[in-house]
Amino acid sequence: MLPFTRITIIGLGLIGSSLARAIREYMPTVRVTGYDADAGVREVARAIDLTDDVTDTAGASVMDADLVVLCVPVRAMGAAAAEIADDLPAEAIVSDVGSCKADVLAQLSAALPGRKVIPAHPVAGTENSGPEAGFASLFQGRWCIVTPPADADQAAVERVSELWRRVGADVETMDPAHHDLVLAVTSHLPHLIAYTIVGTASDLEDVTQSEVIKYSAGGFRDFTRIAASDPTMWRDVFLANKDAVLEMLQRFSEDLSALQRAIRWNDGDALFNLFTRTRAIRRSIIEQGQDDPKPDFGRSH
Ligand code: NAP
Repeated sequence: MLPFTRITIIGLGLIGSSLARAIREYMPTVRVTGYDADAGVREVARAIDLTDDVTDTAGASVMDADLVVLCVPVRAMGAAAAEIADDLPAEAIVSDVGSCKADVLAQLSAALPGRKVIPAHPVAGTENSGPEAGFASLFQGRWCIVTPPADADQAAVERVSELWRRVGADVETMDPAHHDLVLAVTSHLPHLIAYTIVGTASDLEDVTQSEVIKYSAGGFRDFTRIAASDPTMWRDVFLANKDAVLEMLQRFSEDLSALQRAIRWNDGDALFNLFTRTRAIRRSIIEQGQDDPKPDFGRSH
């Protein structure tokens, strides 16, 4: 049985439009309604026939929904939820796709008191944004972490989990604060490091911009992909997951200082041991199907 029959997606960017496409592809009888605060995005969504219906107000989009998924930047979640509060059917479930969870759960619970709120985070994405960047297979073989509040209705948790399984994701349930710590290491810190490295390289005065770009295949290029990610989304992630990111950044700075010391004192063993450990981590990511094994330096695929 389908977990939902009338799904509303609010925020029709990369993730919202991918979810809309995936629902229409894998659950074609579900009616999908879309809304975005940006009139230009609504226009594009209509032009590309992204959803069955696109409404001009948030309230109109949720009137007969049995699930509403908020796909807006994390610091806009509370405002987006407040906009639908008066029109939301009593039994409707509200979920979201935000990249940090404790802050989003607090925003949604405050805006929708007494409602069924079941947050989730599909750990899948690209560096592109907007309604045309999405694609139906984005969630295939990726994890979706569902982070229900402690007193959540278990049937509602199961229905949200089933939606994500239907669009191809593997589902894990996690406490919101633990999610934020895990993602601070696996996603937020790597983005911060990429933003720093690309920023530092572009500020160097004795190496020209054209040289940085020309020789980028040495490694720099791979950081630029991550550092091209949406500025609004990532500004919001760092501010909403401040505590976990600062804790991970502190550990990272200490480890970086240890590496600096190893280089200064010619401690080749320390460098070699670390690089051997990190190579094994790459291998296990490939073994678990979270990346493909094709060599990527000088890639032609
Ligand atoms: P996106 O492509 O920039 O799309 C977000 C859309 O939401 C934009 O069209 C934006 O319009 C609209 N919006 C902003 N505030 C709104 C509001 N109050 N009501 C209705 N629409 C509103 O962003 P995205 O990459 O899809 O990210 C959406 C969410 O998914 C974020 O919470 C992010 O943390 C999460 N996420 C992203 C990724 C990723 O890799 N991108 C992966 C997993 C989860 P304007 O542009 O006019 O503001």
